Amino acid sequence: MMYVDAHAHLYLMSEDDLKRTFESNIIVFAVSEDVDSSFKTLQLAERYKPMVVPFIGIHPWRVNEFDEKEIDKIAELIRELKKYGGGLGEIGIDAKKPAIEKQMKFFERFLELAAGYKLPVNIHATRLWRIALKMVIEHDVRANFHWYSGPLDLLRDIRDAECFISINPCYIFQAQHHIVVEKAPIEIMLTETDAPFTFRGIKLRSWFVIPLVRKIAQLRGMQEEELRKQILQNAKKFLGFFPKI
Ligand SMILES: [Zn+2]
Repeated sequence: MMYVDAHAHLYLMSEDDLKRTFESNIIVFAVSEDVDSSFKTLQLAERYKPMVVPFIGIHPWRVNEFDEKEIDKIAELIRELKKYGGGLGEIGIDAKKPAIEKQMKFFERFLELAAGYKLPVNIHATRLWRIALKMVIEHDVRANFHWYSGPLDLLRDIRDAECFISINPCYIFQAQHHIVVEKAPIEIMLTETDAPFTFRGIKLRSWFVIPLVRKIAQLRGMQEEELRKQILQNAKKFLGFFPKI
């Protein structure tokens, strides 16, 4: 049975974790943070074909380190990326981090690229959900708002824009993310882990999406299998295809 981890930093995972992830039948949307990790992500997509859907880009926390020419280097990798049906990410904006104007500029450029090449985007938009969605809509791009803990009223707009949100297992520790799990339309939900990120002492792993599906199903009064299938369907809509296993 297949599961989806719609946002993980695969290139940072240990060999043991990679092995267990794919033995657990997890399709991973593997995000990158800079040019170097984008190369690594594409290599992993080749190595674990078709279980890895690569996303390349520059993380909003990292834009301070680069000038805009770095975006052109990402653009040069798009032809390779297309072989695996991937997209751009982790891109976005974060109000808690410095250089917000530069972040906006990079995000805008990446959205233009995504629109031009018809690529889905994996977005980090901490505390700037509304602005990020507005920009996504302006560019007519399909987006996943990773670890969505934004306002509930925006969920309808996200659905209307045919975009998605991904739920992290750490929702159990976070009131706002928890409410999102309770209230979000099921047809915009994806599961994710942000692995191998450590949150509150817990090292996140891609296979955590399996108990996550079970918990969300319980919370929403659904059959686990029904939710698992719905999430695969959502993933297919987000990507515009689904890996043939
Ligand atoms: Zn991430």
